[in-house]
Formats: sequence, structure tokens, C-alpha cells
Amino acid sequence: MSETAYTPDREKELQELYTKLGKAYYEGGFEDPLPELLPLFDRITGLKAQAEAEAKAAEEARKAAEAKAAEEARKAAEAKAAEEARKAAEAQAAAARAAEEAAATGDEDATIMADPEEETPPQKPAAKKWCTQCGSQLSENAAFCWNCGHPVR
Ligand SMILES: [Zn+2]
Repeated sequence: MSETAYTPDREKELQELYTKLGKAYYEGGFEDPLPELLPLFDRITGLKAQAEAEAKAAEEARKAAEAKAAEEARKAAEAKAAEEARKAAEAQAAAARAAEEAAATGDEDATIMADPEEETPPQKPAAKKWCTQCGSQLSENAAFCWNCGHPVR
């Protein structure tokens, strides 16, 4: 038993060497392997093909996921841009409405400001009307004298 009582380190190194030896034989003796080792060759070849197929499928899945993510990011960016354009258009329309309302209000202000000017001329002739009782200056449409209460005609 002493011949096979390897230390763990030595056992591990032997396993690695066997592995390297087997790999070297697989790669170097591929064209003319020992007949009794053919099942091992077939098994290794099968595992390699399986791993390659899985790696290829994973790569294709990764590319598909990337393309999908890029497409979704593009659509999100488009939707965001459209939303911002819509908001900008709404803000522009609101500003235009506000400007129209301001213009309309400005016209009303102008009308209100113009009214006193239009009423002022009639008041000037009114200043020429006098109370026949006390001689106070009266407005044209006054019914009574503001000073003595005398009826005005
Ligand atoms: Zn009077």
C-alpha cells in the first residue's frame, strides 16, 4: 500500500499530469487513436460540440437581448422626444392664447381709458349751467342744486 500512499499534493499533481497527457494524446493522436480509447475520443468530441453549441446559443441570445434592449431604448427615446415636442407645442399654444387674451384685455383697457375722454366734453357744457337760486355751478343732468337743493330745469 505504501506505493500508492500519495500525499494529497502529489495525488493532485498526478491527476493534472494524467489530464495533460490525455489531452495531448487526444489532440495529437486524433487521426490514429488507439481503438480501445475511441469511446473516450467520441465522448470528448461530443462534449466539446455540445459546449460550442451552447456557447453559440448563448451568444445569439445575448445579441438578441442587446438588439431588443436597443430597440426599446430607441422607442423610449422617440416617445420621450414626441412627448417633449407635444408639451412644447402645448406651451406655445398656451402662450399664443395668453397673448391673444392679453391683446383683448388691452383693447378693453383702451376702451375703458377712452370712455372718460369721451365723457369729458359733455361735462364741459354742463359747467355752463347754473343754479337760478344760488348761482352754484351745476352739472347738465343735475335735477337739484347740490348747494341749495333748488330744483333744476
Ligand atoms: Zn342753488
